[in-house]
Amino acid sequence: MTPAATQIRWVILKDGPITLAQFMALALTHPDYGYYTTMSPIGSQGDFTTAPEINQTFGEILGLWILDQWIRMGEPPVCALLELGPGRGTLMADILRIARIRPRFLRALSVHLVECSPLLKQHQQSSITGVFPDAGHGSFSAPSPSLFWHRHLTAALGAIGSIPLFFIANEYMDALPIHQYEKTEDGFFERLVTITHPGHGDDFCFIRSDQKADHLHDDGSPVGSIRETCPDAQKTILLLADHLKKHGGAGLVADYGYGGGTLAAGDTFQAVKAHHYHPVFQDVGTADLSAHVNFGVLQTIADHHLKNGTTLWTQGDFLKTHGIMERAEHIMATLNGPERSLFAAGVDRLVQETQMGRLFKVMTLEARKP
Ligand code: SAH
Repeated sequence: MTPAATQIRWVILKDGPITLAQFMALALTHPDYGYYTTMSPIGSQGDFTTAPEINQTFGEILGLWILDQWIRMGEPPVCALLELGPGRGTLMADILRIARIRPRFLRALSVHLVECSPLLKQHQQSSITGVFPDAGHGSFSAPSPSLFWHRHLTAALGAIGSIPLFFIANEYMDALPIHQYEKTEDGFFERLVTITHPGHGDDFCFIRSDQKADHLHDDGSPVGSIRETCPDAQKTILLLADHLKKHGGAGLVADYGYGGGTLAAGDTFQAVKAHHYHPVFQDVGTADLSAHVNFGVLQTIADHHLKNGTTLWTQGDFLKTHGIMERAEHIMATLNGPERSLFAAGVDRLVQETQMGRLFKVMTLEARKP
């Protein structure tokens, strides 16, 4: 049994069945046993690969979008750049590297990272400071922005204070704990996690709560349907949108998910280990757990604050509209043979509808002028 499974089992034996959100939070971010806090999840040696790890143009296009937002705002001389869940730091490094075309932007910035993993923090430190190898030695003209790490978004926003904010979150929201509800003849009931055989193994399974979930209205879905909610994602968007509304700025959230016309697949809770889907209750704490992001709900929350300042794109449309193919062609002109084919395949993977282009979405948030 993994240490995380032992810990969760102990909690269930002591307190009874727990919500799926409690299960996910313990499995992913428990300080001693959690998946993100103890493992090295990203890359070919890890469990999954993300867009910025596939090809540099992903981060570059996001960086140019942010730079454009900063210019449209009239180039505020002091502002913050925030990333939620920066992984190995590759995305932030690509953004800061492309931002060198406007040294004034870099001078305006303090960079804030929200991260729960001490291991990934080390990766971030080396990849991000690696973008500015000569900083401080006078041989490179662009300044190195100051870097700050925070465990929670509230701490980051507190440190940032009353200045414009630019933010990004790629494959962060899918890692936040979800609740699941099952439709019965009598309405929705929450699904809880329990253990099948007290005293043996780590056989986790779902049972249905006997308390009706009165806050979920009947949407006419058939009996047996699963509904998911992610209060942490909603709170995150609310806090970010509120900051943009008060102090200005813009941001974007990229992830796999649904909304804007595409419907939830019902049960989207999934585990991934060594680049393959995995049974959700096996190898707890050593496999990634996630759920698709409900962009429809997040967009409604953000729009309420930002007077319709949000747009939901498919990742393919967002990247192509903002020039990924042109940027890729420019880089590929300098490459030959297998290197060139590999690069082209990476860009394809980001934009093709059958790959990441359609399932992945990009939601942009812009503060409207008062
Ligand atoms: N954005 C990166 C990494 C995505 S993996 C990329 O695109 O490559 C998810 C990231 O979010 C990791 O850095 C993980 O440690 C962090 N994370 C997950 N849940 C978190 C939480 N509750 N609080 C803070 N960071 C979290």
